[in-house]
Amino acid sequence: MTQSIASPNDRSSLIEDRYSSVLEALKRCAVRARRNPNDIGLLAVSKTRTIDEIRTLASFGQVDFGENYVVDALPKIRELVPLGLTWHFVGTVQSNKTKLIAQHFDWVHSIDRTSVARRLNESRHNEPLNVCIQVNVDDEPQKSGIRKAEAADLVENIQELPRLRLRGLMSIPKVDSDPEVSRTAFSTLYELFHELRPSVSEYWDTLSMGMTSDYEVAIQEGATLVRLGTALFGPRA
Ligand SMILES: *Cc1c(COP(=O)(O)O)cnc(C)c1O
Repeated sequence: MTQSIASPNDRSSLIEDRYSSVLEALKRCAVRARRNPNDIGLLAVSKTRTIDEIRTLASFGQVDFGENYVVDALPKIRELVPLGLTWHFVGTVQSNKTKLIAQHFDWVHSIDRTSVARRLNESRHNEPLNVCIQVNVDDEPQKSGIRKAEAADLVENIQELPRLRLRGLMSIPKVDSDPEVSRTAFSTLYELFHELRPSVSEYWDTLSMGMTSDYEVAIQEGATLVRLGTALFGPRA
């Protein structure tokens, strides 16, 4: 009986192909934007992907992985501990999940209020947790992220927390089929990143912006870390 489902080997070489095209594309975008390719990191967003897919991508050298649901992420993180991967939480942080996040992740990109930052700080016991502030640059009412005007206060509050290391800003602009629509949001985030720099002690080095549909624009506007899912693993089911 013939089946149209790809064999594990096919899937693995597909991921390998996509990974090398993405790495090439990132380099090309950096050069075109007159930036150093080494200044642009790749976060592989592995939400909805299996442990095997993550293991495959890791085998080609990818270290940083992102997840947005704690419950889905934990089995992957636990199973893959021997690989020494770096795990980034990119989803909305619910108060009742802060303990698990602080214990199992290395980064949280999506801090948008002081209470959540304090809870993460209390539950963190090993080396400091790297965090970014999520900014709602479009001021969309339904979306998570702090408003631009409130970012400075949150920066101040986070810096009082010894087990959090404030690294930068993150944003998820409105989804649009035209990546140019994201450009204003990205440049706003870039400006805010530089405005806030004097009030941050050190480690302020991360501008987490750009997804599969708009990462090229994000790189032109100063992203230091792009978060890609579809480009690496294919369309989500
Ligand atoms: C899913 C997700 C991504 C990746 O999206 P793609 O369009 O598949 O590249 C990036 N960032 C966040 C916060 C996500 O939830």
